[in-house]
Amino acid sequence: MVNANVRVRFCPSPTGNPHVGLVRTALFNWAFARHNQGTMVFRIEDTDAARDSEESYQQLLDSMRWLGLDWDEGPEIGGPHAPYRQSQRMDLYKDVADKLLEGGYAYHCYCTTEELDTRREAARAAGKPSGYDGHCRELTAGQKAAYEAEGRTAIVRFRMPDEPVTFTDLVRGELTFTPDNVPDYGIVRANGAPLYTLVNPVDDALMEITHVLRGEDLLSSTPRQIALYKALIELGVAKAIPAFGHLPYVMGEGNKKLSKRDPQASLNIYRERGFLPEGLLNYLSLLGWSFSADQDVFTIPEMVEKFDIADVNANPARFDLKKAESINADHIRMLDVKAFIEACEPWLRAPHANWDPEDFDRAAWEAIAPHAQTRLTVLSDITANVDFLFRKEPVEDEASWNKAMKEGSDALLRTAREKLAVADWSSPEALKNAVLAAGEEHGLKLGKAQAPVRVAVTGRTVGLPLFESLEVLGAERTLARIDAALEKLAS
Ligand code: GLU
Ligand code: ZN
Repeated sequence: MVNANVRVRFCPSPTGNPHVGLVRTALFNWAFARHNQGTMVFRIEDTDAARDSEESYQQLLDSMRWLGLDWDEGPEIGGPHAPYRQSQRMDLYKDVADKLLEGGYAYHCYCTTEELDTRREAARAAGKPSGYDGHCRELTAGQKAAYEAEGRTAIVRFRMPDEPVTFTDLVRGELTFTPDNVPDYGIVRANGAPLYTLVNPVDDALMEITHVLRGEDLLSSTPRQIALYKALIELGVAKAIPAFGHLPYVMGEGNKKLSKRDPQASLNIYRERGFLPEGLLNYLSLLGWSFSADQDVFTIPEMVEKFDIADVNANPARFDLKKAESINADHIRMLDVKAFIEACEPWLRAPHANWDPEDFDRAAWEAIAPHAQTRLTVLSDITANVDFLFRKEPVEDEASWNKAMKEGSDALLRTAREKLAVADWSSPEALKNAVLAAGEEHGLKLGKAQAPVRVAVTGRTVGLPLFESLEVLGAERTLARIDAALEKLAS
């Protein structure tokens, strides 16, 4: 059953490069919105001027566009709750903080960091809860005035209710947090800057978010946000508490949480290597969710059709690069040839291409493309697979040369050249038979016989199907390369 009232948000902070964990969060929110024909809100949480950057903001937008995760409200397109960058919403937060103070839901806390540390240590030593102890909860006007006379500045602290907070997580089921575990917490710094703890739920309330789907690392902030929400409802700022669902951790190497700093985690790496967005998203969707028991490869529309947050699994998910690559390879194969040709385009141009751009031959590329399409794991591999067509000479790779050129390779190459010279060049089968026959004359099976031919012609020991490659390269260039190899062997 779909629910068009669904409003979800993706609300990253523009710090550093986007990483795969973040993309998974964006994807699950987006798929949930699209499945329900609801609304995807994209909000930028850029209230931390010291850590946020414009460059990172641009990267986030660019990444979402590349991934094809579109949004219905947010940067550049606006919407009924604009602006969608928190740095442009400061007045709203100030207004809500004032209301919370006036209503007694929050209070000024004058404690210094040293005082808080000292009392925390003492509580720990006494085996008591070590969170904020409520010291400033009931200060009198006189006490406040005295603190201010000392030159102290106050933060704003939210007053947590004295009863437990219980909610039903969409992924984990019912969870209860006792007051001891959730002490009063800061929502505005002494310099007036509002904190994540305030701005995130305030915006969720103002933007009428119905479902908060985010990483498990944020689970501990949920009871605080629910308590804040209740206050906002009483103040008339919020309408209803959203449902929460916490997506499982993503584990990397050595069963450690994949961290933003892991090179494996950077979205840009996957883009640079030539993952298809749909291949990467297909893989990331499996981090905590599954399409069906026996199918791991599917299109994004198929995922959207099936996706339900209730089916997400709470157990940590392991990031498996090999599996990501193999799923990507499947998506490359699923493209129609024209789309494949187009997707490869950026890799065939400088700086990726290792040939003179003038020597690029579009007809040859289109002829070889279908053979490349079935063999690539990532698009960036295309250059090494087709460069033999566009380079004046094959790449020089000593290791490949030494591996293929054995004693007797010159004799074999000479025979192969003779037979290829008179073969039917419109048929890869005929070219194969020529090399097969040459091999027979020298007591070599096809595999052994074709290795020196391949290295002579392409410079590499592995590559696309050889006889199709020769056909596209043409008789003249193939024979000239075999001649050049024979010369090199003779010298
Ligand atoms: N800006 C927060 C982050 O990037 C959002 C967390 C949330 O989804 O509530 O972690
Ligand atoms: Zn205090």
